[in-house]
Amino acid sequence: MKRAEAYYDYTKRVLGELLSTDSPTGFSHAVTKKLKCLLSDMGYAAEIDRKNVVSVQVKGKSSEKKVATSAHVDTLGLMVRSVESDGKIRFTRLGGPILATLDGEYCRVYTRGGTAYTGTILSLSPSVHVFPDSRERARDEENMYVRLDEEVYSKEDVTALGVENGCFIAYDPKTVFTESGYIKSRFLDDKAGSACLLTVLKILKEEALVPAYDTAFCFTNYEEVGHGAATVGKDCDELIAVDMGCIGKDLSCRETDVSVCAKDSGGPYDYDVTNKLISLAKKENLSYAVDIYPLYGSDVGASYGAGNNIKGGLIGPGVAASHGMERTHKKGVTATVDLLLNYLLTEDEK
Ligand SMILES: [Zn+2]
Repeated sequence: MKRAEAYYDYTKRVLGELLSTDSPTGFSHAVTKKLKCLLSDMGYAAEIDRKNVVSVQVKGKSSEKKVATSAHVDTLGLMVRSVESDGKIRFTRLGGPILATLDGEYCRVYTRGGTAYTGTILSLSPSVHVFPDSRERARDEENMYVRLDEEVYSKEDVTALGVENGCFIAYDPKTVFTESGYIKSRFLDDKAGSACLLTVLKILKEEALVPAYDTAFCFTNYEEVGHGAATVGKDCDELIAVDMGCIGKDLSCRETDVSVCAKDSGGPYDYDVTNKLISLAKKENLSYAVDIYPLYGSDVGASYGAGNNIKGGLIGPGVAASHGMERTHKKGVTATVDLLLNYLLTEDEK
């Protein structure tokens, strides 16, 4: 049964709230607090572990097996690498953003003391009237910097503000929900997936639905650097990661689909779990695609890598231009909610 459409206003609201909360990987306190509030608003008590994995346990009809589902709330970002003698802030990447898409992007630099200063990410040849190579200069770590919106002219001026090596830098998501149903924003990977998990929890609560099996809903951090769900799945039989679906080249997914990943760079996903996902997508007449993701790793891979004995699956809304200016669609998001919900409500065939 399709239920997600009726809850899309909720999905949109929580997605907007998550996107407007800065959470570059490793800098998760604000988003953890936000998630805790969103979950307690629905009547769920969240547990938070040392790595700030936020989890909620939902009792199923059967305790014969335990399912975990995860989405990551950490995003790409930057960190101060050094401050130059003239006050320019040089940075290192957190995760793998396409740096060319960050040229001209507004950002916030967070001091260790908790103050945020605004700034702009720029090329080191930022003015066409001064630098002959302004158009051609590479957009990479060696050729870009952050210009702070403060009157700073030296390293001492910058460090006096508390901006020092190791400070986190978050850049603008630029979120727009269009009339045509598109969602344009950075960090749809994986705040769209996180909003899907929240919506499934909302539907379970509102409609008093009980999953087939005991289910843990987990919101991870550090996914963008590869070890988000390393601690997730220890006590579970299955882990279904909800993360962005890939789009482009010969992949069949569109932004209006839920993508079922059959294989990524870590190899094939579990045969039985993937079969169940595909057969439910067909049965429920969802707009879906099955694809191979060539350059992709997920939280299931992190859990496998940590040695957890689980069956892994991966689904998510199609996200175009990932790690750049991303875009998905309401239809892809609602199809993901419907597929996950149906999966959790459906008993395995014996
Ligand atoms: Zn992701």
